[in-house]
Amino acid sequence: MLNIQGIAASAGVAIAPVFKLEHPDYTVKHRGIEDTAAEITRLEEALSKSQQELEAIKARTQQELGEKKAEIFESHLLILNDPELLTPVRDKINTEKVSAEYALNETAQQFISMFENMKSDYLRERAADMKDVTKRVLTHLLGLNYVNPAEISEEVIVVAEDLTPSDTAQLNRKYVKGFTTNIGGRTSHSAIMARSLEIPAVVGTKDVLSKVSNGDLLIVDGLDGTVIVNPSAEVVEQYTAKRDAYLQQIEEWKKLREVPTVSRDGVHVELAANIGTPNDVAGVLENGGEGVGLYRTEFLYMGRTELPSEEVQFNAYKTVLEKMEGKPVVVRTLDIGGDKELPYLDLPKEMNPFLGFRAVRLCLEQTDIFRTQLRALLRASTYGNLRIMFPMIATLDEFRQAKSLLLEEKAKLVSEGVAVSEDIQIGIMVEIPATAVLADQFAKEVDFFSIGTNDLIQYTMAADRMNERVSYLYQPYNPAILRLVKMVIDAAHKEGRWAGMCGEMAGDATAIPLLLGLGLDEFSMSATSILPARSQIAKLSKSEMQELAAKALQLGTAEEVVELVKGINQS
Ligand code: PEP
Ligand code: MG
Repeated sequence: MLNIQGIAASAGVAIAPVFKLEHPDYTVKHRGIEDTAAEITRLEEALSKSQQELEAIKARTQQELGEKKAEIFESHLLILNDPELLTPVRDKINTEKVSAEYALNETAQQFISMFENMKSDYLRERAADMKDVTKRVLTHLLGLNYVNPAEISEEVIVVAEDLTPSDTAQLNRKYVKGFTTNIGGRTSHSAIMARSLEIPAVVGTKDVLSKVSNGDLLIVDGLDGTVIVNPSAEVVEQYTAKRDAYLQQIEEWKKLREVPTVSRDGVHVELAANIGTPNDVAGVLENGGEGVGLYRTEFLYMGRTELPSEEVQFNAYKTVLEKMEGKPVVVRTLDIGGDKELPYLDLPKEMNPFLGFRAVRLCLEQTDIFRTQLRALLRASTYGNLRIMFPMIATLDEFRQAKSLLLEEKAKLVSEGVAVSEDIQIGIMVEIPATAVLADQFAKEVDFFSIGTNDLIQYTMAADRMNERVSYLYQPYNPAILRLVKMVIDAAHKEGRWAGMCGEMAGDATAIPLLLGLGLDEFSMSATSILPARSQIAKLSKSEMQELAAKALQLGTAEEVVELVKGINQS
């Protein structure tokens, strides 16, 4: 039995065997061969194993996710049997006397680069499909051990060096009971997605991957950040009880689903949810969300081979607005960059991606991408209560430019006779310290602020939110952060605007009393944090929390703030 400590990233307890997710090395070197017939046989065997796998995945996907989602595997099967690909591969083995993997890789790469350079969307998509199929066959030819996370079909806990947001999006909740990674922090996007998928997770363990083997029994305790390898029967029993108690607690919280969020002394605040896809709305409603405080639209741009069209976007935004039935929905425009990549944009690698060409910076330069999104949003605006928010605003000029592009697109639509809502609030994320400090000026021009503490903390403390080595500096309760939050809220109120928070701090039980006291109007968090937050706020008096916050602002360290909050009566 081995205990490993990491960062609690998504609540709940999971107990299941280990599934190591390692991305293998597909490098293929030139290798000459003598026996061409044997090499052809190796190729045929690899093709037939790949065929069996794809048929099984296709059948399972059809059954579990429907015909549409299974189509992708049908196109993979077509490629796998395409003579235009396979005849040149066999010829190459016979005439050049090279290994099957080399012949396949060389031939496939030629097709891939040809497709990638085509104008047609269809052919560019085929390039991505061909890459996947080639990897699948190479896995067999090179004797690699790799299973795509989407293909897991037994109950497991995924263990990986890191998971990208798109790896995480592919995890099937039915089988993936939890995950744990070597790197990452509580606000890395895979952690955020784990919370919306309600998969218990522990990240930033530094070395869990090297400490486990496939099939080891593992406990992932996403409540306190512990991972236990090969626990004794007694420990399994103890954690089974902990898991059941947590599930029981969730049932208790559910009773608060329809209740408004009111403090003990009768002050209402709004509890909204952060979502990444229209599918997440179900979780928002189930958890009694009073709105969507942050729709991270970049997930709509990920996991595909090209930009989503205006129509695809319009349908996604419309769905969310309709499902929320008039409750406010804050949609954030594209925030790509940092740990969220879009390979098809072919952006150069940067030394400091979190400080680089991202979010609104990219949108203001590649305005065609931005305008498409703005049009889709404006067209969807009549289906509900839409608010539009720009991310990573550092200067007033950026806000003005973004807003004027929005107004231009609105004027165009109106002149085309398209209906657009007249009540769209336009706000910004405050996640750059310069913007927090200058909030009084911004408040004169924006309709609202939403404080993005995930980034605001990393920029204020100069501590990468993804880097577990500096996670000790990632301090939401540092009085410096609290002072910035206060500046933003006060500036908003002075101009009659509202101030929300959509960083993870908004759902943090230690931060909530302070934020209530500082006067935050809207708290937006992972849907699963809403009911615990509602239950907590009902026990707090806002006027007492104002006094608490005033004291906290005068303290010197985060630890002192935590001690202060611990001392209050939350019953
Ligand atoms: C934030 O920075 O706090 C935020 C909510 O945005 P993201 O986590 O997507 O960067
Ligand atoms: Mg951010």
